[in-house]
Amino acid sequence: MKIAMLARNANLYSHKRLKEAAEERGHELHIIDTLRCYMNIAARRPEIYYQGEKLTGFDAVIPRIGASVTFYGTAVLRQFEMMGVYPLNESVAIGRSRDKLRSMQLLARDGIGLPVTTFAHDPKQTEEVLKLAGGAPLVIKLLEGTQGIGVVLADTDRSAKSVIEAFRGAGVNIMVQEFIKEAGGTDIRAIVVGGKVVAAMKRTGAEGEFRSNLHRGGSAQVVKLTAEERATAIRAAKSMGLNACGVDMLRANHGPVIMEVNSSPGLEGVEKATGLDIAGKMIEYLEKNATPGKTRTKGKG
Ligand code: ADP
Ligand code: MG
Repeated sequence: MKIAMLARNANLYSHKRLKEAAEERGHELHIIDTLRCYMNIAARRPEIYYQGEKLTGFDAVIPRIGASVTFYGTAVLRQFEMMGVYPLNESVAIGRSRDKLRSMQLLARDGIGLPVTTFAHDPKQTEEVLKLAGGAPLVIKLLEGTQGIGVVLADTDRSAKSVIEAFRGAGVNIMVQEFIKEAGGTDIRAIVVGGKVVAAMKRTGAEGEFRSNLHRGGSAQVVKLTAEERATAIRAAKSMGLNACGVDMLRANHGPVIMEVNSSPGLEGVEKATGLDIAGKMIEYLEKNATPGKTRTKGKG
């Protein structure tokens, strides 16, 4: 196969591993800087240009689109889809998972366990939103945050109110969530590929930190999921329409609750913690599904 990988930094562990895994399996993988692609949106003849040349002959595309370039990145990916190139994850699915409120709504629609989550546009409703979420302690999140930045724990209603007002005043969208205290600063990430959990790890936040993100100093260990956690992760991936993703869950008293579904999960933490070849699983998925010219998505809106 000739595979394109949309990524900005060729030197990231995950990107190097995906290239290595593709080559080990006898494929060609070209790393394409998403923001350097330019497109011709001509009727029935979608084209993408890169470094002065038209991109042709690709069987599959692996989108590794950073959160800061979602808008342009998904447009480039959509163009690949319109050209009939099979995406590891579809552009629409990435769009769903990048918006925390939208993804919570879709997960709720499918009956998947979530922390109590509330949202309002108008700062005048702040008090009601706090009440609806069950009162402090509460977690307040930017809708488009990542790596734990923009996730705040407010211990009292008063601090929650100030944080909400500050975020709203800065013109950013937020949601307010019940704080799952019993998770104890630990969350579970399950990697789902092709409707199966292929790996799972437990991430524990640094001392005194409720956020377990590895980027915030958290550490990863291998974990065995319960049948319910496994089923929840698979359902969440399906609900988003993602073929390969990281599903983040908290262990609440009443069972697993989903925090988010990540369409470009980092591979370093989970491969090192579990010793598994997850990049290889993603390439294997493409081998099974990327039949040239048989791409089901043609760039769904
Ligand atoms: P990001 O996209 O920035 O990673 P998350 O929603 O995943 O944002 O939250 C970051 C971390 O904060 C999580 O991994 C988890 O450890 C902690 N966290 C998030 N929401 C809650 C919650 N409702 N209750 C308890 N801990 C939470
Ligand atoms: Mg997260």
